[in-house]
Amino acid sequence: MFGLGYVGSVTAACLAGAGHEVWGVDVDTAKVGPITEGHSPVVEPGLDELVAAGATAGRLRATTDPRLALEQAEVSLICVGTPSTPAGSTDLTYIRRAVRDIAEAAQVVVPPASGFHSIVIRSTVPPGTVDEVVAEVLAEVPPPDGFTFGTAMCPEFLREGSGLADFYAPPFVVVGTRDARVGTALTDLFAPVYKDNNPIVDVQIVDVRTAEALKYACNAFHATKVSFANEMGRIFRHFDVDSREVMRIFVQDTSLNISPYYLKPGFAFGGSCLPKDLRSVLHLARMNDTELPLLSGALATNERSVRDVVDRVIAGPGREIALLGLSFKHATDDLRESPNVEVAERLIGKGYNLRIYDPIVNPARLVGANLRHVTSKLPHLQRVLTDDPAEALDGADIAIVSATDTAAVNALLTTPPARTIDLSGRLGAEAETLPGYEGVGW
Ligand code: NAD
Repeated sequence: MFGLGYVGSVTAACLAGAGHEVWGVDVDTAKVGPITEGHSPVVEPGLDELVAAGATAGRLRATTDPRLALEQAEVSLICVGTPSTPAGSTDLTYIRRAVRDIAEAAQVVVPPASGFHSIVIRSTVPPGTVDEVVAEVLAEVPPPDGFTFGTAMCPEFLREGSGLADFYAPPFVVVGTRDARVGTALTDLFAPVYKDNNPIVDVQIVDVRTAEALKYACNAFHATKVSFANEMGRIFRHFDVDSREVMRIFVQDTSLNISPYYLKPGFAFGGSCLPKDLRSVLHLARMNDTELPLLSGALATNERSVRDVVDRVIAGPGREIALLGLSFKHATDDLRESPNVEVAERLIGKGYNLRIYDPIVNPARLVGANLRHVTSKLPHLQRVLTDDPAEALDGADIAIVSATDTAAVNALLTTPPARTIDLSGRLGAEAETLPGYEGVGW
């Protein structure tokens, strides 16, 4: 497993849990160290226990040395980051590096008994990456005698915060390859993972570019749903309508056959996937002189959702703010492209006084790379972070409720400030009794 972030650590632990022997490889010792000690390198419900079980059983190990991992290995899964470049395209530097690491390690290790090794991209990459980028690197460092490589794209569909549950019950398992041996290797790899699923999860073998494009289609659609729901919220707010209620009923229309996920008016989408993948699709469109007004609009609406919250704060009285929730959604410590971070930074920039409470994001609870992220990239927010919601609310004129927990909700109901702007829908019916309450779908 190359890359032990949110996707790699979940995948590694789940595969070890299914009985496979897994070596995780990461260039970052903040990821390798915890796994070696039997802990998860990221905050993900249930993952710590699964990593501990895998490490104790001796089936899950981690290293910074690709050669250790590749010794007799049959499959490499690449789960490294594919961030946006400043222009919005997908940065494939880490993909190239990981493929090269595998190819170079193959020169010196004992091959698997079959002599065949599958290199599988699990990261989200644009169509053509396996055929062009991966193939190019492998042509530069061809396998030695006794080693044959096959390649594939096998996109990952887990969501942070419910990573384990999503891994065990994916919407589909799709392998894009033109090499039947890789298809068989992955079908065998996943068989023990999904053996108890009902209905059984089938592995669909498709063209490699279909598998690459599929993940972008999924994320572009999720993002569009969020923006659609938020636009409903924005317009109907002016008519005193609770759009959450509208959308609750809307999704019952069986002719739409649409899941209620991503369709709750509330706040902007964020995190390390939807914004960057949408930007990537829009960049591919620009490069091919193709206009995508719907998807451009989904991104613009998202940015508008962040500005809306800031505008709503500014429009009313109060300078002391309690922001309840900082990560981009519940049950994760991931701060990448969090719209809550954006709101915090803009309000601080406008001279508001903030106290921030997040159930996970506080220096006492953060681990590894995310602690480093806060201390190095967000020191201005670290200074106003507290691990006590009551402290965040003490003296606040306005509470902004976002990705938060029951402790914060209880503290808010006990000592409500003059205004509460609810972006989460976590407050329940009691919220209506709060003074100056602005409901989530309004
Ligand atoms: P992440 O940033 O949390 O983890 C990536 C890891 O790769 C880092 O720990 C980094 O140190 C490591 N890495 C970089 N170069 C390496 C190399 N040469 N060898 C070994 N390790 C290396 O990223 P993530 O959130 O897990 O996402 C990984 C990929 O999966 C991305 O393409 C993302 O779009 C996709 N994806 C993410 C999610 C999600 O919810 N986070 C879901 C589905 C797909």
